[in-house]
Amino acid sequence: SAKTHGRNRFNYFTPAMQSDAQKRMLLVQELKNAVLQEQFELYYQPIVELGSDSVIKAEALIRWDHPTMGFISPAEFIPIAEETGMIIDIGNWVFNEAVAQSAKWKALFNVDIQISINKSPVQFRDETTDVQDWLSTMSQLQLNAKSICIEITEGLLLEKEQNVEAKLLAYREAGLEVSLDDFGTGYSSLSYLRKFNIDYLKIDKSFVNNLTPDSNDLSLCEAMIVMAHKLGMKVIAEGIETEQQRNLLEFAGCDYGQGYLFSHALCSEDFEQKYLQQRADLIMINQFTAS
Ligand code: C2E
Ligand code: MG
Ligand code: MG
Ligand code: MG
Repeated sequence: SAKTHGRNRFNYFTPAMQSDAQKRMLLVQELKNAVLQEQFELYYQPIVELGSDSVIKAEALIRWDHPTMGFISPAEFIPIAEETGMIIDIGNWVFNEAVAQSAKWKALFNVDIQISINKSPVQFRDETTDVQDWLSTMSQLQLNAKSICIEITEGLLLEKEQNVEAKLLAYREAGLEVSLDDFGTGYSSLSYLRKFNIDYLKIDKSFVNNLTPDSNDLSLCEAMIVMAHKLGMKVIAEGIETEQQRNLLEFAGCDYGQGYLFSHALCSEDFEQKYLQQRADLIMINQFTAS
């Protein structure tokens, strides 16, 4: 009873925590609806090749526009989706949406935009899903394997389960590329870089935020870039917001950049208009002048 549990319980269950718990329960319920009613949309943030300023890659980022609560951040609902297992259905939706978009862009604009999707460790651990499902979807759409890049986080590479390692290998053997997201924030062990072949290292935005000449953060970025290149990886810096950050990173040899300086994540129509339409027009002009 309340009496035997005494005062501790009162102290523990403060009004603030109670509302947190309630909020979470509400979100779980609403998230179930969202999956059924497909209240999600994929947005695309350009990844810019720093040397050429060209956009041949984009990261797919999920957006949840709730009918009454408005936009809810993935930082808020992805952890809940992971804890409840809903990330499996959501992750499959994200994948199907991304490959459909890739096929559409290829057909409409004759461009190969590589789309990166974030794949949670929970999805890798799931026994009911098979790498082969995604691969066969891609071949049905006649997509090049390099059309999709899978973003994983460092934690995944520390997993002891053989299954996780096997799945990662299977993607790479099929020709998909793999990015290591949020690099430098998770685990300081580098030994996993010996074991796994990773195509891109994404420097976390916390190293980019305060990037100035002569800063420790610049030294860290330079070291990460040299290390990545020596191991055969390309580097993408996240969270670039200023010209200075962009220039310091390019000078340090960073291959790609992503951030609000270039663009926020855009809905597919805006992405097409801003980055693909022009290119399709150019192709038309080239064909016209060549004939
Ligand atoms: P992430 O994969 O590291 O994605 C980058 C995040 O940084 C995105 O936040 C993006 O909007 C934000 N960002 C990009 N440029 C800038 C910048 O210049 N400044 C700042 N301050 N932020 C920038 P977003 O879209 O809110 O996503 C947050 C996280 O949620 C993602 O981090 C990822 O871990 C997760 N997430 C998003 N979509 C998915 C998804 O489809 N599946 C899974 N499993 N996780 C997702
Ligand atoms: Mg990511
Ligand atoms: Mg990231
Ligand atoms: Mg991040």
